Amino acid sequence: APDSRVLIVGTPVGSGMQVFGLIGNPVEHSLSPPMHEAAYEAVGLDARYVTFEPDPDRLETALDGAAALGVSGLNVTIPFKQDVFDLVEADDLARRIGAVNTIDFSTDPPRGYNTDAAGVTRALDHNGVAVEGADAVVVGAGGAGRAVAFALADAGTSVHVANRTVERAEELAAAVGGETTAGGLDSLERVREADLLVNATSVGMEEDASPVPAEYLHGDLAVMDAVYAPIETRLLRDAAAAGADTVDGAWMLLFQGVEAFERWTGHEAPVEAMNEALRARL
Ligand code: NAP
Repeated sequence: APDSRVLIVGTPVGSGMQVFGLIGNPVEHSLSPPMHEAAYEAVGLDARYVTFEPDPDRLETALDGAAALGVSGLNVTIPFKQDVFDLVEADDLARRIGAVNTIDFSTDPPRGYNTDAAGVTRALDHNGVAVEGADAVVVGAGGAGRAVAFALADAGTSVHVANRTVERAEELAAAVGGETTAGGLDSLERVREADLLVNATSVGMEEDASPVPAEYLHGDLAVMDAVYAPIETRLLRDAAAAGADTVDGAWMLLFQGVEAFERWTGHEAPVEAMNEALRARL
């Protein structure tokens, strides 16, 4: 029936080669293909990672087609992270975040995950930043902000969300629940008392600006920026100058890819090879 969502899991492509990829728009400058292909090479996996810009009106057909063709897994980026949500069986965390960025076609129906959340905690852990019991301020309540806030709260961090549009921060804090609090950008002064600050806004990407006044930063703080282009943002420069530990946005990007690779292949990801491939292109 035209409105059915029966997805057929197809057979592997060619002589056992697996196909993974990314759907979004635009995807032309994505760093995922080199990062994932470096991983396949490092572990000796016969696989390719390709990018697609599907017709937004035919997203469901595109996913059915990918499944039928035997595509093993897809990452999902803007503008499809929310739309894909209704077309796959999203796991509990992706449901709570409200966005899917990774699809695993090995089941029928395909499963949807949000690996941005694991990207946050694994990036912090890899860089020696403790999250359990920490007091964090998350600035931003968009897609990245949601993943960051849920990831930290689930890891036992107490979270304050500060966002330009305060209603969005309040909505996110209510969704995360527990002791999560919310405020506008005027509540950023809480950074003075915090252990951890995560920038999940796009500020710092287009211009040399920081979302947080430099005078709030201090030496007992760890600062992670979700922005990865440029790799050294104004916020991270200000944080380093204040004596804070810094974790750049490429770490989050890396570890969401590491998490997707491990879910898709069952192999432990070759983190160093993926990191090298990613940073060579930033
Ligand atoms: P989004 O959903 O569009 O959200 C944008 C956020 O930035 C909102 O909270 C917005 O506040 C805030 N914002 C925008 N301009 C601002 C300004 N001038 N002052 C204060 N706040 C401002 O975008 P997103 O998907 O969450 O992405 C945010 C950033 O994270 C982007 O730079 C993206 O590249 C990066 N990101 C990185 C990774 C990674 O793996 N490293 C993953 C995902 C995203 P309002 O709600 O008030 O509009």
